[in-house]
Amino acid sequence: MEPLSTNIQYLKGVGPKRAYKLRKLGINTIEDLLYYIPRDYEDRTQFKTLRECTVGEKASLEVEILGEPKIIRPRKNLSILKIPIRDISYNGYLVWFNQEYLKDKFFIGEKLVVNGKINRMGGELQIVNPIYEKTGAREKIGRIVPIYPLTEGITNNEIIKLVQSAMEKYLNYVDEFLPQEIINKYDLMGIKEAIYNVHFPKNKSLLEKSKRRLSFQELLVLQMGLFLLKNKNINSKNGIRFKKLDEIDEFIENLPFKLTRAQRKVVKEIEEDMEKDIQMNRLVQGDVGSGKTVVAVIAIFKAVKSGYQAVMMAPTEILATQHFESLKKFYKGYDIEVELLIGSVPQKKKEEILGRLREGAIDVLVGTHAIIQDNVEFHNLGLAITDEQHRFGVKQRALLTQKGRNPDIIVMTATPIPRTLALILYGDLDISIIDELPPGRKEIETYAVGPQMIERVNKFVEKQVLEGRQAYIVCPLIEESDTLTVKAAEDLYLNFSDKVFPSFRVGLLHGKMKPREKDLIMEEFKNHEIDILVSTTVIEVGVNVPNANIMVIYNAERFGLAQLHQLRGRVGRGNYQSYCILINESNNPISRERMRILQSTTDGFVISEKDLELRGPGEFFGTRQHGLPELKVANLFTDMALLKLAQKEAMEIILKDPKLEKIGYEKIRHKIQQLFSKAGKEIVFN
Ligand code: ADP
Ligand code: MG
Repeated sequence: MEPLSTNIQYLKGVGPKRAYKLRKLGINTIEDLLYYIPRDYEDRTQFKTLRECTVGEKASLEVEILGEPKIIRPRKNLSILKIPIRDISYNGYLVWFNQEYLKDKFFIGEKLVVNGKINRMGGELQIVNPIYEKTGAREKIGRIVPIYPLTEGITNNEIIKLVQSAMEKYLNYVDEFLPQEIINKYDLMGIKEAIYNVHFPKNKSLLEKSKRRLSFQELLVLQMGLFLLKNKNINSKNGIRFKKLDEIDEFIENLPFKLTRAQRKVVKEIEEDMEKDIQMNRLVQGDVGSGKTVVAVIAIFKAVKSGYQAVMMAPTEILATQHFESLKKFYKGYDIEVELLIGSVPQKKKEEILGRLREGAIDVLVGTHAIIQDNVEFHNLGLAITDEQHRFGVKQRALLTQKGRNPDIIVMTATPIPRTLALILYGDLDISIIDELPPGRKEIETYAVGPQMIERVNKFVEKQVLEGRQAYIVCPLIEESDTLTVKAAEDLYLNFSDKVFPSFRVGLLHGKMKPREKDLIMEEFKNHEIDILVSTTVIEVGVNVPNANIMVIYNAERFGLAQLHQLRGRVGRGNYQSYCILINESNNPISRERMRILQSTTDGFVISEKDLELRGPGEFFGTRQHGLPELKVANLFTDMALLKLAQKEAMEIILKDPKLEKIGYEKIRHKIQQLFSKAGKEIVFN
């Protein structure tokens, strides 16, 4: 067995109990420990004198014990240990709270180095709760100290000791797996040096170099694995080969509008995929309103006319219902049987649908996650589409796919992200981009205003409604609770229906309503039986009411940039000039920056890039959605330049040596397999 795969339990000083805790941190082997990257560092290299220190700062000092310890007990449960000290500049005290046992540790005249927070109390300079060691030891003080992510029952110092001990015995076994030419080309630190310095760097520059090396290798291995996964798909001929159909041109010809150039390009990519006997795995990215639905409609048409069933899953009942209705319209006269399956379908009807679905009498099933329940069986599912994929987890998407035998897969998203990132985040998917809006859309005018403008905003809404338009009013998002958000929506609704617009028809929509009620309200809004719809973000996704041309968002500062963009995308869908009014109640520079960005562009790519910049990738993507290996060192945002290099190199290597069998590459190959097998994916080299 490889020494690095040794169970962590057998490291000196570990044992079963500690091993259990380490496992909670994801550390199972020696290698895991060596790659357990600090989340931060504390720089204790800079020594100061007492005179140089400012109150409140944390500093390292060289001190000498000056006198006997004193213990004060100002109240029950509190003891204060004070030991007089001096350094070359001043006299002071070491002070510890509730750590009486330290009183006998030192002798007068002893020299120590300490590190702690500087405080001033009644003219005394104090170093509070310091850590200490003998002068010259340099274990805890006088160096850059790693700060590790921890779990209960294990301290930072314990981890430091374990890493040290692992390093002594095992660092030599760490093997350089990158070929020398790559190391030279990108000026990378060697692997042993990098692992050592990421834990115990001598200085900042060595720390940076070690992180760069480890990030690069991580991105390279991940990206190569992802490219190879894609290749595997390309090489395994287990997908459905759909027919080349002439009918499809006719169908497209007869659509109520002409496809945009971008839509035609994406349709073509999908058609080509579908005609191959490999399983399609395609992400369709397109800004709100770019017309993704019709692309799905065409793909479904092709699947059904080739003799297969198709399914389309949407995150909300409103959206599923809307898709169902538009599909029925598009397929009118084409003999395609469409059904809707959502939670609110009555049991009897549900059973009937399930029966017909099993027999193959239904061609297309549209629905919410109700369609991934166990009892939903298809006759021969050939195409599975997920709309607004960011609302679903990997698992739900996988369940949908399992309803057929290697059906082709399309996932659609309105969160456009830069291709570099998409290559990592959507890993094994091919990517199609609709980067053009249908013609005739007027740019939505966006204004950010303060709360003092609300009256004028209301006047403006009134004027538009009198001209026959409709408005959305989005109420503040209250982070802590859905109930409070609903309350805010209800209050706003009452205010508008009773006081501000008593003569208009005002409606209310929120997430706590029954699906039936929601549908009803949405239906009324669509039919223009409601003029003004007060709503929570339930309208965020996909809803289409062309006559609505105003979106007012209260407390806009509480929403993320991408979310505001999504909300804004609900208007500007008809021929009328549309407006988005952001009511910003915050003076925070980041919110102001967000508002400014929204006013300056309606390009979803630009907005998502800015969003990424303002929030960082962690928050941007929320929990990881794609079930691929996690990044431990690299940061997708700050290491963007490095990511580009790694992607380029990954591509070059794979083009040169797709099976990674040449000398120098077999070690990378092993790394890739290792990484992906942890995430439950097998990479086949064929
Ligand atoms: P999204 O990409 O946000 O899902 P939709 O598919 O809902 O967008 O399309 C938005 C609106 O644009 C719909 O009313 C749709 O019928 C219309 N549309 C889509 N493609 C075109 C086109 N090529 N020309 C004109 N209108 C289009
Ligand atoms: Mg849509």
